Amino acid sequence: MNDIIHLLPDVVANQIAAGEVVQRPASAVKELLENAVDAGARHIQLIIKDAGRTLIQVVDDGKGMSFNDARLCFERHATSKISCADDLFAIQTKGFRGEALASIAAIAQVEMKTRRAEDETATRVVIEGSEIKEHGITAAPYGTSVAVNNLFFNVPARRNFLKSDATEFANIEEEFYRVALVHPDLAFTLYHNGKVVLQLQAGNLKQRITGIFGTAFNDKLFSIQQETDFMKIGGFLGKPENAKKKRSEQYLFINHRFVKSSSLNFAIESAYTQLVPEGHHPPYFVYIEVNPATVDVNISPTKVEVKLQDDRLVFGFLNAAVKKAIGEFSLVPQLDFDYDKDLDPGNVPAGMPVKAPTVGLDPNYNPFRSSGSTHKVLFGGGGGYSAPQRPSGLSQDWDSFLSDIKQTEVHAPASDQATQMQLIDEPASETMEAEAFMPVYRKYLLVKTGGKLLLINIYRAHERIIYESYLNALKETPVVVQQSLFPETITLTAAQGELLNELKGEFLKLGYEIEPMSATNFAINGTPVDEEIGDLQELIETIIDDYRSNRMNRMMETEKNLALCMARQRRSAIKPITTLEETNSLLQQLSACLVPTLSPSGKKVFEVIGEVSLENFLK
Ligand code: ADP
Ligand code: MG
Repeated sequence: MNDIIHLLPDVVANQIAAGEVVQRPASAVKELLENAVDAGARHIQLIIKDAGRTLIQVVDDGKGMSFNDARLCFERHATSKISCADDLFAIQTKGFRGEALASIAAIAQVEMKTRRAEDETATRVVIEGSEIKEHGITAAPYGTSVAVNNLFFNVPARRNFLKSDATEFANIEEEFYRVALVHPDLAFTLYHNGKVVLQLQAGNLKQRITGIFGTAFNDKLFSIQQETDFMKIGGFLGKPENAKKKRSEQYLFINHRFVKSSSLNFAIESAYTQLVPEGHHPPYFVYIEVNPATVDVNISPTKVEVKLQDDRLVFGFLNAAVKKAIGEFSLVPQLDFDYDKDLDPGNVPAGMPVKAPTVGLDPNYNPFRSSGSTHKVLFGGGGGYSAPQRPSGLSQDWDSFLSDIKQTEVHAPASDQATQMQLIDEPASETMEAEAFMPVYRKYLLVKTGGKLLLINIYRAHERIIYESYLNALKETPVVVQQSLFPETITLTAAQGELLNELKGEFLKLGYEIEPMSATNFAINGTPVDEEIGDLQELIETIIDDYRSNRMNRMMETEKNLALCMARQRRSAIKPITTLEETNSLLQQLSACLVPTLSPSGKKVFEVIGEVSLENFLK
């Protein structure tokens, strides 16, 4: 039989390769913008017609190309950026695979004009479906212009896959943002169908973010900065109350490259657990820098996925850095009874009855220190907050990019912070006297205070209050345990038993003295003083199961997890509220909480009912 294998002609090979690199107009946009950045441009213009179907053009003022390079750059594996495989692990440029221009030229009609500053004349190359139509001399300003006409003109199947113009243009904008967000020091202009859509001046990162997403973002962000020998983190995080149901405005960059990573996204979002309602996602702009030798950027042709050598280390560090930033800037929502939802101009997402938070609580929280936080929850007016400690400064050699962030930090100056701390030191109990109260349907309490009506879910309020008290107990020395004369024994499964053994020390801090009798039998020698506990077997079993599922699904830390499970179990143990004193005591305890607005499970604790909502109700 004859041999049947043959080499594909370049034209076909390029078309196949193009399928990986250029799936839609936005992919070509990404490649061309990145080439312009790599060429050292200061101002980059992106010109689009018909959502990229008829024209995608990028004009830069970068270093340009020689006459021969202008022809060679369209060859597959033609690159000036690497010369051997080892270079892959020291990459400073966006591109390196040398296939973008070859791929684009395989499936479009491309015209390139390019001139180096030192050359008298510019070069013009026209290439259609990988076929060179023209290679000559022309006049042009220095830099490069690549115009991609009629994308997929020779691959109608691909053209049919394109979505509506609105969708394709939104994808283009997204790619444009991703490049612009890594290079705030470069100017960008985006045109669509002859109109300027977005013009971004060179500036710092904060200006770049607000340039793209609007000046409202000025108040929505706080900065994150952390550095060790092996990695640096910088950028901005959204304040918890700006979390949205949709995952938009979430940007993660590794070594100046936009990346998608569900695990690193989780490292960021899980730091917000219990600060945002369930199912809400905070915006973020996080920039990570690691040694290029520890990242493999060459695992997908579009390079949006990366492989990290120490992914667990990076995960842990990022998670801790986000928590630290949240703690430092104390951006947890505070109880604000003066807040009237009806008067809200509307920029708070629905379902979040929180006003823009002020700086205040727990400035000492620092997951990088081994000793825990020093704050105390003010039960009945006891305890207090220690003076705020400024975070240690970042080392000097962070690049200019991070110094931008430093200049534009959004948190209040230290003096402001100190004043606000004092305010918190003296709980605003006077202003929160209840004038009248009324229990409704067992679980609710209607309270009139300072001319406002509050509807409080007392179970959730109680859950929040005891959650924070448990959390504090877990950070301190064991409480007094009431020894039982007749210890009760409980029986668990082997897996439950193993977990209970692990958590024995924590349980003791919460007042439960547990002694293992065997792998599955435990004696409960003591329970908390002053607490009525129902069925111990059921209580411990439920807590262990809940704990295990939290650990698996939400990767919660031991202390928070246990406090949450415990609070969920004990929340209904609240006694009915029948007097004004009890109402006031609840209000005070709630207002002393770090996050009074949400239950630790992420549910709303209370709602302020204003005149307008009453009127709406009776409409
Ligand atoms: P890669 O970026 O992976 O090297 P490309 O196909 O995108 O591959 O580009 C091939 C080469 O063409 C680049 O390495 C670069 O030398 C040159 N080049 C492409 N675009 C530009 C530009 N806008 N300005 C200057 N040189 C460019
Ligand atoms: Mg490239």
